[in-house]
Order: sequence, then structure tokens, then C-alpha cells
Amino acid sequence: MSEPRSITLPTIDHGPVTLPEPSWCIGHAGDLPEHRADILHRGPDVSLTFRGQHITDACLVQAPFSTIDVPELGSRTPGVSVSVIARTLDPAGLYELAAALDGYADRLRTLADSLLVIATEGDL
Ligand SMILES: [Zn+2]
Repeated sequence: MSEPRSITLPTIDHGPVTLPEPSWCIGHAGDLPEHRADILHRGPDVSLTFRGQHITDACLVQAPFSTIDVPELGSRTPGVSVSVIARTLDPAGLYELAAALDGYADRLRTLADSLLVIATEGDL
């Protein structure tokens, strides 16, 4: 098992802040916080693109010094930030979103089936 990592980040309100770095965090290069409460651990993005067009990203996040108590808006509770809904979800919320996307994919397939019939039968 590897040693726990720690990082030290400069802040304007608390000086250098040293804290544990979760194994899933991609680091903070180029994303330095101004205030300690803005420190945000982020995992790698999971992106959805279609024909080169970006649709959404999702990634693990945790704000260890956040003063916000609403998990969906970013808090000390780890979650998954989903850009298309601008919310951070807990596991139950993420499963709920995945189920909604599954249902949407089924509806798109139904539309494709309808379009195929219309195109085949010339019902325009
Ligand atoms: Zn981090």
C-alpha cells in the first residue's frame, strides 16, 4: 500500500495550507485556489462527446474546507460533479441520473425506429 500523499497549497487567507491528497485527485497544477475554502480535489473527467461535440463531463470532487452544507453545490462530502446539470451528486443521485439517461437512450432508439419506418414507407 502506498504512503498517503499530502499537498501544500498557497492561499491568501490562510497562507500555505497542507492537507491530505486523495489518491483519485489529479492534482492542483494550474488550478490554485485563492481562499482555503476554494480548495477542490478533482478526479479525471469522464466526458461525453458526439461527433466531436462536447456534451458533458463528470468527475469526482471534494471541497475539504467548504463552508457550504449543501452536497449538491459542492461540500466536504465527496461527490460527482456533472457539468450538464451543474450539480454534484451522491451515489443515489448519480444512479438516478444514469437511469434517466438510459431511459432517454431508449427514447432516442424509438425515434430512430419511427424515422426508419417513415423513411422506408415514404410517409412524409
Ligand atoms: Zn487534490
